[in-house]
Amino acid sequence: MADVLSVGVNLEAFSQAISAIQALRSSVSRVFDCLKDGMRNKETLEGREKAFIAHFQDNLHSVNRDLKYVDDVISRIDRMFPEMSIQLSRPNGTSAMLLVTLGKVLKVIVVMRSLFIDRTIVKGYHENVYTEDGKLDIWSRSNYQVFQKVTDHATTALLHYQLPQMPDVVVRSFMTWLRSYVKLFQAPCQRCGKFLQDGLPPTWRDFRTLEAFHDTCRQ
Ligand SMILES: [Zn+2]
Repeated sequence: MADVLSVGVNLEAFSQAISAIQALRSSVSRVFDCLKDGMRNKETLEGREKAFIAHFQDNLHSVNRDLKYVDDVISRIDRMFPEMSIQLSRPNGTSAMLLVTLGKVLKVIVVMRSLFIDRTIVKGYHENVYTEDGKLDIWSRSNYQVFQKVTDHATTALLHYQLPQMPDVVVRSFMTWLRSYVKLFQAPCQRCGKFLQDGLPPTWRDFRTLEAFHDTCRQ
């Protein structure tokens, strides 16, 4: 319950930080207005600036809390599933990028925007996930149809698990769902009972039961 409460507060922190920057702009113009007026209201101005700076620092602290919050959620999930390893990086500052490796089956790039998952790309375990300059390649798709399909399903899963007030639950639900792909090539279809259909294994996983289905066998 403590988690849920702090999430609400942290989400607000972002919009507060933005308002703070807007406030800074108008406060700067206030400073000039005050200077134009002369120094007769010097004390009020100083008081206001002090209060503003304190307020702004509070907001910055909140943003830092959010970064730490994502770190905590991810490291908890990382410990929860031994067959899943998660590397977190922040190449562009605040937005986290995850490289999830699932057994020796697949790799998943997860791009976060603040506390939320923005997009995801699934590739084969042996496929390259980096660009030429060594950064995570968040744009190119897998060369294999099977992982292209899983990418499409993962994108659908992100929409399905959306829960704006509880980003940690969303990340955990998505990772739990994703983890079921550790048996991508070992689980038969729960409808037709076969492993392959049109040369592909069951690439769909039910959002609730995590059961495997061929794309064409799901309802
Ligand atoms: Zn089937």
